[in-house]
Amino acid sequence: MDSVLSRWSRTRSADSVFGLGLGYYVPMPAKRSVNDNPAPEPEVIASMSGIADLVARYDVVLLDAYGVLVNSAGLMPNARTLVDAITGQGRGFFVVTNDASRLPQTLTARFQRFGLPIPAEAFITTGSLLPGYFADNALVGARCMVLGPADSESYVRAAGGQVVPVEAGQDCDAVVVCDEAGFSFLDTLDNVLSALYRHFDRGDQVALIQPNPDLIYPKGNNAYGFTSGAITLILEAALARRYPGRDLLFARLGKPHRPIFDQARRLAGTDSLLMIGDQLETDIAGARAAGIDAALVTTGVSRWDPSLHNDSPSPGRPTHVIRF
Ligand SMILES: [Mg+2]
Repeated sequence: MDSVLSRWSRTRSADSVFGLGLGYYVPMPAKRSVNDNPAPEPEVIASMSGIADLVARYDVVLLDAYGVLVNSAGLMPNARTLVDAITGQGRGFFVVTNDASRLPQTLTARFQRFGLPIPAEAFITTGSLLPGYFADNALVGARCMVLGPADSESYVRAAGGQVVPVEAGQDCDAVVVCDEAGFSFLDTLDNVLSALYRHFDRGDQVALIQPNPDLIYPKGNNAYGFTSGAITLILEAALARRYPGRDLLFARLGKPHRPIFDQARRLAGTDSLLMIGDQLETDIAGARAAGIDAALVTTGVSRWDPSLHNDSPSPGRPTHVIRF
C-alpha cells in the first residue's frame, strides 16, 4: 500500500523533490487512535506546550488554511507557531482547504511569499477532488460553465471537463461553482441561471457541482466576505422557485461534506488524524462526522462560548479548543 508513511519516507530521502531540506512530512507511529477517548467537553488548550502535547497524540494533522494559517492579508499571527508545534513533534500535516480557486502549486508559491514553505503535495484542495468526481459521474468531456478564476478552470480541465464561456445562449452539461472571484458577478449569475432554466425546461440533465461550499471567509482586520457557497444558495433558490419539489441541488465536495475527509484519510494512510480549523460548521462538524478529532482555533470565523455551544449536538462540537 502506497501510504503516506512510505511516500513521506521516500520524500525525506529525496528532499530535492520538494526543494526543501525539511523533515516536515514524516509522521511518527500512532500513540492514539481517533475514537479511543472522545472528550464529552472540549479540552481547552491555551499554551504552546499544550499545543505540542495535543499534536503529539496523532500521526497526521489536517490544517485548515483560511482563518488558521492565512487570511486575505497574509499569514495569520500564529501560523508559524502551529506549524512549528507539529513539525517539532515530528508529525506530518496536510493543508485541507475548501479553496478551488488556486492550484496546489499556486498555493505553494503564495505561502512561500508569506515565508511559510509548504510543498504542493501537502495541499488537499476541493479542486483536486474534481477528477474523481468527474470519473465517478461520467462527466469526462462534459461542457462546463466554471465560476472562478483561471486556476478553477485548470482544475476542471484536469478533471476532463471542457470549459465553455458563461455567455448568453451558451449550452452546457455542468455548472461548477468554484469561487466568487474571476468573473462579473451579476452578469455571470444571470447567464448561468438562464442556461439552467433553458436546459431544465427542455428536460436536459445538467450536473451541478460545488467544490467549495464555504459561505463566508475572513478577510483580515475583522472584515468578512461571501464566497462560492453563497452563490450556490442563490442558484438553488432560483431553481426551487421554477422547479419546486425537484431538489435541484449542487453536489458539495468540500468541508463539512465527506469527500474531502475521505481524500485526506486516503492520502494520510492513517486513521490517527486531528483536524485543526476555525469554522464549527465546516472544519469541526465535517471532521467529527467523518470520525476525526477536531480542534477549533478561535482566530477565524467561529467563537467558542460554552454557554452557547455546550448543548449543541455532537458531532458538531470540537474535541479541543485552542486559544492562542
Ligand atoms: Mg477556515
